[in-house]
Amino acid sequence: MASRQRRSGAEKAPGIGTQGTVGTPPRSPPRTGDSPTPVRRGPEDPPVRDPAIYAQTDHFRGRIHQQGRYVSPSVASEAIERGQIRWNTSDGWRFALVRDGVRFVVVVGDTDTSSPVVVTGWTEIDDWETAVGSGRWTPTDVNTIQLRADLSESPEKQVPDRIRPRAVDRPFELGDHRIRTEPGESHVTCVDCGGQFRSKNGILTRHCRR
Ligand SMILES: [Zn+2]
Repeated sequence: MASRQRRSGAEKAPGIGTQGTVGTPPRSPPRTGDSPTPVRRGPEDPPVRDPAIYAQTDHFRGRIHQQGRYVSPSVASEAIERGQIRWNTSDGWRFALVRDGVRFVVVVGDTDTSSPVVVTGWTEIDDWETAVGSGRWTPTDVNTIQLRADLSESPEKQVPDRIRPRAVDRPFELGDHRIRTEPGESHVTCVDCGGQFRSKNGILTRHCRR
């Protein structure tokens, strides 16, 4: 991009950007010549696999610092570069990358504009045994990821049976609260206000009275 601005007078000299090494796709659309003029991108076109062009929304930035999210900027970049691309009717394009039994999901937006963004990201268990057996995740991590997913799947639904087997002794943030649970308990408990919940909406609709 910078190279283009510097060349105000010179017309279309090939190989303008000295940084354009082999294997690195050009940042700006290719000039006329060997390739056809790029078609204008539409919302249906798959998102670009270049993490550098994606800005982070405040929502995403807030999430990556929350205990139990496990979606860092570097894993989001890896998902954009190498993950599976999927279209979802509710939130558009997402990248999905499985590492050590856990799937990282990264949702991107504005993919047809000049300012694409990483909207949000989360983790899911892809394979329980692999996740538990890997050195990357502790049992608490795996339980946290599964519990989050179970609560989020149907936010309005009470899911005592899903909560009961989970062991999460290190609290994680959900809404206003920091929650934990023990095996055999059919609710999660906020360590700050003592509130007990069985659904995600229950958590999100009550303020924490610390
Ligand atoms: Zn609370």
